[in-house]
This record gives sequence, C-alpha cells and structure tokens, in this order.
Amino acid sequence: MLSDKEIFEIILKECKKALKKCEIPICAIITYENKIISKAINRTKNNVLEHAEIIAIKKAFRKLNRKFLNGCKIYVNLEPCIMCSFAIVLSRLSEIVYVLREPKFGGTYSLYQIPSDIRLNHRVVVRKVNYFENEFIELLKLKFQ
Ligand SMILES: [Zn+2]
Repeated sequence: MLSDKEIFEIILKECKKALKKCEIPICAIITYENKIISKAINRTKNNVLEHAEIIAIKKAFRKLNRKFLNGCKIYVNLEPCIMCSFAIVLSRLSEIVYVLREPKFGGTYSLYQIPSDIRLNHRVVVRKVNYFENEFIELLKLKFQ
C-alpha cells in the first residue's frame, strides 16, 4: 500500500532529476487502485503546454485505455495551473493531492477553484499536504534564481 508520503518521496527524486536536466522541478504522478500508472516531469523547455500534469494524464489514458480517469488520483508538488486544473476536470480524475500553492497561476485554489466549481460537470476532491514542503520550495528557488 503506497502512502501519500511515499509518493511524494518519488516526486522529490524526480524533481531533483528534472533540475539536473534544466527542466522546471515539477513532477506529477497518477495512481489507480493504489498503483502508480503514470509519472511525468515538466517538459516546457521546448513546448510551454507540456506541463507535468498534462503529460501524466496522456500517459494514464494510454495505460488504462478508457475515455475518463474516474478513480484516479493525481499527485503533484505544485498546485496545478488553470490549464491543468481544467484538464483534470475534463479527464474526470477523482482527486488532486498537492504540496505548494501557486499564487501566480494556480487553478485549484489560488486564482480559481476549478475542480470544485459547481457550474462544471465534474468535481475533483482537492487535498493540500505538507510533505517535503521546504525541499520543494528550495528546488523551485534553485531553478528560478
Ligand atoms: Zn499546468
């Protein structure tokens, strides 16, 4: 049984690798029935739309081979942006678990609350957790300084 903490341990390792490859240290993991079915880091160096969440969602669709991702949870170290928050709603994931708030682009809490907007046709449970908070802050600072 994978715990939230164990998943964020993997995300932390992936973020460190991303930084070495000069990518933004953001990693998304999608689980289904408590198993990891996809994992991705940001690939925005050459394409500004290739956020970790979008890549992870595409991989999850290929893996499960179905139209929606009901029952899947997405874990990410940074609050999903507006685009990714809506992609998560469209894909009908069940839950978002994240660590850091994103005051500039955040679409699950900071600027908009897309996953809990009752006007949309699907709602996603959002949970903010604190695993490795300081480590994630440091990694993002290293990238942007
Ligand atoms: Zn995004």
